[in-house]
Amino acid sequence: MLSPLEPTTIARENHPISRSMLDPDVVRILYRLKHEGYEAYLVGGAVRDILRGDVAPKDFDIATNARPMELRRLFRNSRIIGRRFRLVHIFFGPKNIEVATLRRTVQPDVDNDMLQSEADLPLDDDRMWGTLETDALRRDFTCNALYYSIHDFSIVDYVGGVRDVEDGIIRSIGDPGLRFREDPVRMLRAIKFAARFDFSIEANTAEAIHNCAPEIDKASRFRVTEEIFRILTQKNRHRGLALLDEYGMLDHIFPTWVAAIGREGLEQVTEFFDVVEQHAQQGRFLPLEVLAAGLFLPMLDEVDTEHDNFQHHSARMLDEVRSISREMDLPKRLLTSVSVLLRGQLYLLYNANRPKQTQRFVSGSEFDWIWRLHDLAFGHIPELHIMQERWLTLRERLPAPIGGWVDTPDQRDIFSFRGITGGGRRRADEPASIIASPHEISGERKDSDRRPRRRRRRR
Ligand code: ATP
Ligand code: MG
Repeated sequence: MLSPLEPTTIARENHPISRSMLDPDVVRILYRLKHEGYEAYLVGGAVRDILRGDVAPKDFDIATNARPMELRRLFRNSRIIGRRFRLVHIFFGPKNIEVATLRRTVQPDVDNDMLQSEADLPLDDDRMWGTLETDALRRDFTCNALYYSIHDFSIVDYVGGVRDVEDGIIRSIGDPGLRFREDPVRMLRAIKFAARFDFSIEANTAEAIHNCAPEIDKASRFRVTEEIFRILTQKNRHRGLALLDEYGMLDHIFPTWVAAIGREGLEQVTEFFDVVEQHAQQGRFLPLEVLAAGLFLPMLDEVDTEHDNFQHHSARMLDEVRSISREMDLPKRLLTSVSVLLRGQLYLLYNANRPKQTQRFVSGSEFDWIWRLHDLAFGHIPELHIMQERWLTLRERLPAPIGGWVDTPDQRDIFSFRGITGGGRRRADEPASIIASPHEISGERKDSDRRPRRRRRRR
């Protein structure tokens, strides 16, 4: 048995976290637990973010020694979720707050083939529950293992996390190689946090990511895709993409994509996300559909409007996009929107001189998104300026100003695109896809829908 660690305790007067910064429902849960005789802490992202100077965290995680069944009894508005982690969600309208029982890492049972991990333990098995110390040590990074106690309003730090937050460092708890092999998604989390906060990755942790990069193949595809899209939708996404590349993650996660776009294509995509970032810093955000389409910009290169034809070219391009997107595990609905946006890019190039088509196309509901993507990706290319002027003049004749921005970062997670009935996780209050259905594609597509099908030519 290891001897207990001595935590550092930072008293209330020496740290900035106050109850007024927390969601009132979170404070209520913490007090309720305390009054029932349990330990109760705020932990994870919210503590880290307030220490970093972000006084309005959006996501609150609670840790307590109350067991899941006890939490269920205490909070009628709650539900136990997750096979592996058995968290309790407490609902307040559409908002839910995550409460986790203090845990420890369960070692696989070598004498019992059936028992390999926490997931195999029955809910009332004591082996998975632990103390504040064991709970801190099973967390991923030092900055994520800080506990704000509702008992004396202090911060309890077993791992040197406060100093690492102050110094801007992402550091694995324990041996980084072991921790990354235990759960390879942690490597993506390290990159996600380093990019988002502009933190550096501590040398041993960084070396372990380089060495363990191939392990990412063993992780759940679902979690990997989710983390990649978090990186692309969060602050400093261009740095996130650069770090994914630097640590060899892209070669393992998206090998077909990397091979198809090449080094130059990757630079083009990184530049696009750099421009997206500059707009985000001015409060102009883009929906996930447009960001996802940005990954495929290199597929649009080498357009030859004189010798090629729009229909053939877009069919060819979309075939390629579809086959690459398979390894990305993109939900179908997202892929549909991405296809509309990419096809629209070719439409702008091929059809700028056809007055009937252009008029209809600019009036389509998705034109502004298509235009926005074009402008961000190709707006700076002098050879395209005449064509751009043409579209812009037409569009400006319409009464509504050009849209194509959203006011807040897109918080939808990528799997919300599977839809409510398609095993999706879209909450009722989350907006649907920007492009409602493939049948709403405007311009020539509608036209061709109306045209009677051509009879198949007999040989
Ligand atoms: P965010 O601001 O993105 O929500 P977060 O740190 O709160 O950041 P979550 O994914 O909400 O991240 O997880 C909550 C906490 O659970 C983390 O702070 C960390 O302590 C712990 N945690 C999450 N994922 C892992 C993991 N794969 N391994 C170990 N600990 C984890
Ligand atoms: Mg969180």
